[in-house]
Amino acid sequence: MESLSRQILKALQSVLPKDTSFITLHEPCMKGNEWDYVKECLDTGWISSAGKFVDQFESMLSQYTGAKFAIAVVNGTAALHMCLLLADVQSGDEVIIPALTFVATANAVSYCGAIPNFSDSDERTLGICPHKLRNYLKEIAIKKQNGCFNKQSGRRIRAIVPVHIFGHPVDIDPIKEICDEYAIVLIEDAAESLGSFYKGRHTGNTGLVSAISFNGNKTISTGGGGAILTNDEHLAKRAKHLTTTAKLPHKWEYNHDQIGYNYRLPNLNAALGVAQLEQLPGFLESKRNLANRFENAFNQVDGVRFFKEPDFARSNYWLNCILLKQQDKEQFNAILELCNNNGFMTRPAWTLLNELPMYKSCSQMHLTNAKSIVKRLINIPSSAYL
Ligand SMILES: *Cc1c(COP(=O)(O)O)cnc(C)c1O
Repeated sequence: MESLSRQILKALQSVLPKDTSFITLHEPCMKGNEWDYVKECLDTGWISSAGKFVDQFESMLSQYTGAKFAIAVVNGTAALHMCLLLADVQSGDEVIIPALTFVATANAVSYCGAIPNFSDSDERTLGICPHKLRNYLKEIAIKKQNGCFNKQSGRRIRAIVPVHIFGHPVDIDPIKEICDEYAIVLIEDAAESLGSFYKGRHTGNTGLVSAISFNGNKTISTGGGGAILTNDEHLAKRAKHLTTTAKLPHKWEYNHDQIGYNYRLPNLNAALGVAQLEQLPGFLESKRNLANRFENAFNQVDGVRFFKEPDFARSNYWLNCILLKQQDKEQFNAILELCNNNGFMTRPAWTLLNELPMYKSCSQMHLTNAKSIVKRLINIPSSAYL
């Protein structure tokens, strides 16, 4: 009987191209109008915080996602920070986020002076588990006139931020119900899920506001970049104002009515964004095709399954992953070792955020599923060109 690591390597070899020396997890693909649009910025001098590509990128994003408003910003972390501020997350508040996510989700909470409270994951979606969330709030939360409070910490629970992990939509309808019941604001970290749909609607449309990222490793990239999505006109206006130093419009006077942020996306990056968005349908098709090939290959391997979108969702398959059936540290390391040594980048999920030194003392529910998932999950190459 061949070892599991050998069988996994063979499955990767059967799906992925053989002519490259090392295949990374995710690479940007700049094969459209990127050169032309960037050249136009350079030729006209419109490279910075104003210019037609920013407006065009925002309107294309809004059209694609179905969100009434899209506000382009410098990166996904800034977008999340702004979302939390728009939702009135204040210093001393608690914000419920998954333990299994990229560190930026927790950092954005901290930038507001608020404190993360970690939620467990759902093995169907890899995102926040609605059942566990409901039971946890039953145990710790009390609704008062001025909001929902954590009985144990005494802090206000202002918001819940589900994350669409690796692009797979979280089961958000029951989470939205819980938020409404407890008067908690719903904010989506849709950083990884551009092109992913939940029951037919684009991710990022259920929460009050949501954040997308266009970092170099995401489905489309602007080098660095992000966007805020919302269907609320008042919040959209506030977002634009706050991200542009809260400057009051005037022909020559420089006046600002509050402490703002310099978070606007430069036109140069937006030019890349427009060219990338034009190619998004093609990227999604290639990524779905790759996911199907992986599914077939890993169906032949006992002891592991390729992670597929839940049946209520259409995922962008941003970052593919496989889940081992058994928790076995030695075997887990052997797989990573063998694949990385043979030209295929593979990587475990992030360290759970509640284990990082700065977040160790935060409140958390029992993280049984998240702890099991991180011991069994391996990300595999996912670029659109594969
Ligand atoms: C990438 C990412 C972010 C942050 O986006 P940046 O553009 O890198 O700042 C936030 N949350 C999640 C889940 C991400 O994957």
